[in-house]
Amino acid sequence: MTANTTTTATDRLTAVQAEIAKACTIARRKPEEVTLVAVSKTHPAEAIVPLLEAGQRVFGENRVQEAQGKWPALREQFPQTELHLVGQLQSNKADDAVALFDCIHSLDRPSLVKALAKAFDKAGRQVPCFVQVDVGEEEQKGGCPIKDVPALLVQAREAGIPVIGLMCVPPFGIEPAPYFALLAKIADDHGLEGRSMGMSGDFATAIMLGATHIRVGTALFGERE
Ligand SMILES: *Cc1c(COP(=O)(O)O)cnc(C)c1O
Repeated sequence: MTANTTTTATDRLTAVQAEIAKACTIARRKPEEVTLVAVSKTHPAEAIVPLLEAGQRVFGENRVQEAQGKWPALREQFPQTELHLVGQLQSNKADDAVALFDCIHSLDRPSLVKALAKAFDKAGRQVPCFVQVDVGEEEQKGGCPIKDVPALLVQAREAGIPVIGLMCVPPFGIEPAPYFALLAKIADDHGLEGRSMGMSGDFATAIMLGATHIRVGTALFGERE
């Protein structure tokens, strides 16, 4: 679905929730099985507050620094908010990310396993992670190559990182369903429950293929600049 400027954030949230409910009915799943992560990257606090007021409590950002600028103040107002990192994470930002985020969707390489393990130790807190899989074999997007996923999962387990599932961003502009099915299959093979997949244009498809976390920006906030 597309958002336009005449609808309010609350209307858009209601519409997205209705679409989630519809997809769940078709898939014979419960809406509670699907977490809506509202991706607020590039949008200012003024655009985020209406969604918080409408009851949305899980948000996603793709840059540590941008999130540090916006979220501490918003969280003071709305303490129950959960913040997820959905973008690539540089190892030197691991400490900052662990301090701010409640979930990391982009664990994709051994060096980051090490950096996060160290950061968890230092912070005395662990943050659940998804391993991001490069389902479309597009290196520039980040994500672990499919063939390296088993080894990365072993490393993460040995380092004590709580991996709750897999995440993907399929190639742009082609039918995403085969990639969602592939991610679900790899997650199944490794006994992982979480599947972070589906964005504004394809979250209903992702839900039908087993998504547990959908990451929706444009359909909630409108187009980004
Ligand atoms: C921006 C972003 C989204 C949201 O995309 P929309 O198409 O605006 O819904 C989801 N996942 C990731 C990793 C993103 O960077």
